[in-house]
Amino acid sequence: MYDNLLYQNASSLLRDDILQDRLPGSILFSGPDATGKLTSALETARILSCKGNVKGKWTCTCSSCLQHKALINSNTVLLGPRDCSLEISACKKTFLNSAINHSHEEASRYLFVRSVRKLTMRFNPVLWQDSDKLSKISKYISVIDELLEQIDPPRELPDFDELSSVCDKLEKEALALEEDLMYNSISIAQIRNVSSWAHISLAEGKKVVIIEKAERMLEGVRNALLKILEEPPENTVFILTTSKRSSVMPTILSRVRTYNFISRTETQSHDIIDRIYHENFTGTIEQYLQNFLPVTPKDICNTADKFYGQVISGTIPDLNEIIKNCNKFDPRLLFRLFLESIYSFQKTALQSASGVKASSLCTTALRNTWNNVTIYNQSILAALENLTKEIALINKTNDNALREAYGKL
Ligand SMILES: [Zn+2]
Repeated sequence: MYDNLLYQNASSLLRDDILQDRLPGSILFSGPDATGKLTSALETARILSCKGNVKGKWTCTCSSCLQHKALINSNTVLLGPRDCSLEISACKKTFLNSAINHSHEEASRYLFVRSVRKLTMRFNPVLWQDSDKLSKISKYISVIDELLEQIDPPRELPDFDELSSVCDKLEKEALALEEDLMYNSISIAQIRNVSSWAHISLAEGKKVVIIEKAERMLEGVRNALLKILEEPPENTVFILTTSKRSSVMPTILSRVRTYNFISRTETQSHDIIDRIYHENFTGTIEQYLQNFLPVTPKDICNTADKFYGQVISGTIPDLNEIIKNCNKFDPRLLFRLFLESIYSFQKTALQSASGVKASSLCTTALRNTWNNVTIYNQSILAALENLTKEIALINKTNDNALREAYGKL
């Protein structure tokens, strides 16, 4: 069990709880990004429905495990926002390399197919019934499903040129789906739909509802979820994941058992990247995936540097130009990197008393900017306009502390 979850104590805790039949109906996986929370959630779903003699064995070939490994089982639903595109691009590269080198072919095929389905699972009609987006979603999903059919295990793969073309098309469609329809936070309709679905009884196995980014929910949505967790449907396990446990509502926290995930060391990350992607890369998994961004982190940092410099010296930056140069901040990770750069620049002000105050205000402004975009659906342009005004005002009302400090660099 949990053979694919490396260097996390949570795996042995989960294994013990499942084997001793004491896994609660609602659990929370808490820890930084890229620490294996989603992998573990999907693996938990597989193990709970396994029909094999040795429950949950990684190599089990029972019908349920085979469906779970390809992420096509109907008793798991996955919801919550996520930037899937980088992982899809990274897995595509690994898969095509494995086809050229004739090594790790089967594992790499699952890797790529799963990376695409980690995106499409979020558009399960169960979650979107009665939504006006359903017909748009269906169009994307039917194109993606047709392409996936050509490479789904155990089907024989086409020759390399054909395979490469299918993978390119899949990557393009997945990107378009993500850009067009990925939501910033879970809607109340999705929670209600999940609730109805969870209450339909199941012939065999266990239903699993995975909710990613549990901290990114508006109050009404959180309350709707809380209602379900208070009276959980039979035979259903809810797995919430978060990288910000402190932002999850306390009433929800009191209903779940938390399993903690921790950042891996550089050596551990190196090993994981080698095992999954078969690449020799020094750095974190997140840094490895950032190689597949449409704009490099360095370019984002340079753009943020120019933006910050202009704002604190009283010049109005050309926001439309910034947004264009940063690929419209798509995927959203680009916007996070942009804000993180500004966060590191403004910390230079911490040397003076007025700077400490300015920095604290700046930090709050940056956090609000991120929340306004990711939770409250504010446009990036409007968010940057606000941020420009706020940082300029913070600088002005604190003796130009931000400019003084940054200028000294
Ligand atoms: Zn099985």
